Amino acid sequence: ESDVKNREDGFWRLSKLGVPVHKDPGKDFIGISPPLLEAIAKALEFPVAAMLPEEAFSVVRKSFDARKVLKEAQFVYTVDMDVKKLLNLEPRTWDFIARLEPKLGVIEYMSKPKIPIDLINIFHDSQQVHHEAVQEDVLETQNRSFYEILPPKRPKIAVVGSGPSGLFASLVLGELGAEVTLIERGQPVEQRGRDIGALVVRKILQSESNFCFGEGGAGTWSDGKLVTRIGRNSDSVQAVMKTLVQFGAPANILINGKPHLGTDRLIPLLRNFRQHLKGLGVNIKFGTRLNDLIVENRQVVGVKVSDASHNSDCDNQELFFDGVVLAVGHSARDVYQMLLKHDIELIPKDFSVGLRIEHPQELINTIQYSALATEVRNGRGGVPVADYKVVKYINGDNNGTTGSGDSTRSCYSFCMCPGGQVVLTSTNPSEICINGMSFSRRASKWANSALVVTVSSNDFDSFRSHGPLAGVEFQREFERRAAIMGGGDFVVPAQTVPDFLGNKLSETSLPPSSYRLGVHASKLHELFPSHITEALQHSIEMFDKELPGFISKDALLHGVETRTSSPVQISRHTDTYESTKLKRLYPIGEGTGYAGGIVSASVDGMYCGFAVAKSLGLYQGDI
Ligand code: FAD
Repeated sequence: ESDVKNREDGFWRLSKLGVPVHKDPGKDFIGISPPLLEAIAKALEFPVAAMLPEEAFSVVRKSFDARKVLKEAQFVYTVDMDVKKLLNLEPRTWDFIARLEPKLGVIEYMSKPKIPIDLINIFHDSQQVHHEAVQEDVLETQNRSFYEILPPKRPKIAVVGSGPSGLFASLVLGELGAEVTLIERGQPVEQRGRDIGALVVRKILQSESNFCFGEGGAGTWSDGKLVTRIGRNSDSVQAVMKTLVQFGAPANILINGKPHLGTDRLIPLLRNFRQHLKGLGVNIKFGTRLNDLIVENRQVVGVKVSDASHNSDCDNQELFFDGVVLAVGHSARDVYQMLLKHDIELIPKDFSVGLRIEHPQELINTIQYSALATEVRNGRGGVPVADYKVVKYINGDNNGTTGSGDSTRSCYSFCMCPGGQVVLTSTNPSEICINGMSFSRRASKWANSALVVTVSSNDFDSFRSHGPLAGVEFQREFERRAAIMGGGDFVVPAQTVPDFLGNKLSETSLPPSSYRLGVHASKLHELFPSHITEALQHSIEMFDKELPGFISKDALLHGVETRTSSPVQISRHTDTYESTKLKRLYPIGEGTGYAGGIVSASVDGMYCGFAVAKSLGLYQGDI
């Protein structure tokens, strides 16, 4: 009994609960169905499933598993069991619960989260604290002059960049009582949508408002996949997901094994996020570009900004702050240059380059699901639209494909967008780089994914005159080549997979592409150095063994995918998030090398918010 009592505050997590697809109510159902209750009873070795009250269980995760090794495809659940509720609802389970033993990865006892999961609630708590502090102040100062009883000065923080990392840093700092100014070179989603429309329809690229720059950052006109490698059940990821739900994301992102939003859901969500930040008093400056930092005695004391529509920074305005959070993403190459001027350490890091492959979605459904493919009805059926994830390690010693002195390179699919489209993510008209996006229904006829190969400093050797930015120049070189190969006007160079493998120009007409600005048959096999091309060719052949049909005349490669992650990392202290070179500068997110993707960037921003708040005395808890 005492065991159970000790555990009453927490809950048990039951994982790997399989429900065959024909018994499950379908991909959108996230409740406790009778077949799931049976799976729970089986995992608990509890004799009568019907005795378990479904109210005591909640689904934490639901994934689809269609691996060929299974007799039948199944949904796989992770479920939390609330002991207190279970005992209240069904006291006959008492003895059984007392005897329950944990089994690693299958039945685990969970303790309470460390980070306050409800990021929006810390607002109310902090308001309370702030209010009480002001009341005390008033009492203490009743006999003093009026100006002395004003609330204490709030620390002023600039957050530069309104991508996921900047938004979450602003949220936490705003909630905890800092006076936040959010500086964003791009436009709010309403205007940004019009600018992106002009790009897609009239081929007009606004250099400061596009697929990379603007409210929500690079993640807005994206696939909105919320998958992450940083532990999807961790408190921090849960806190981010829960916040997104509070701003309008569907609750199923808390549960789906592969949560996905889609651009159409991201836009209203960002509007709600903006309104909430404004409600906290965050001053949001769109169309405002950071040009420089103001530094005194190796400490950042402010920023120089200008209207982003002006090319020169001669109309700089100086703004002063107690700290500057740098959340600029990896396409802000001008910011990297500016940081070098301040002697900030930019450490070159490995990243990946390659091409984006596109197949008809139906082909991927058939490869992955065989007969079950007919169940996929434009993302509305019981079975999700099929995706894939492939990775191969190419060993240079065995086949000579690495060419750079490295013994192995990985070649993998990245940012796969089922039911999506290929989009232009250039920020400069003389460069072409692409990525993928989708809408929530994932109903397009195409499935696209980056196929990329890791590259390291050996590969950038010929760009070493650019110092730590050699990797950036390496990216830029292939983006320029792609623009030339495409023939201009943002037309993308393309080649069918069989022709890429055969090193020949695609002569017959190319298969249709989702890319709206046009494709041009090109010798993509000549775009990268031969060792990168060979690594891509070799791995595509291996992917076809895993996914028979992957090599198809209907599969079209598009060039070029270069901005998979940041080519540099800006060093910072682990606990305070402060730059190791400049005090009061806090580099965060993907562009500074600390995240890769929407969720990890959000988590990094959230932690930075707590760390900065702690250093300012606004937060006393653990981080
Ligand atoms: P960013 O989102 O890049 O935000 C940086 C912001 O800083 C930008 O808004 C920029 O305008 C602003 N900025 C830059 N320089 C300055 C300056 N000098 N002054 C003021 N403001 C400045 N990830 C996923 O997890 N799932 C996906 O499905 C997915 N799909 C993607 C699809 C596309 C088309 C793209 C381009 C990316 C996609 N990503 C996806 C990656 C994801 O968007 C990024 O990992 C994430 O946005 C990084 O967040 P961040 O806050 O670090 O930087």
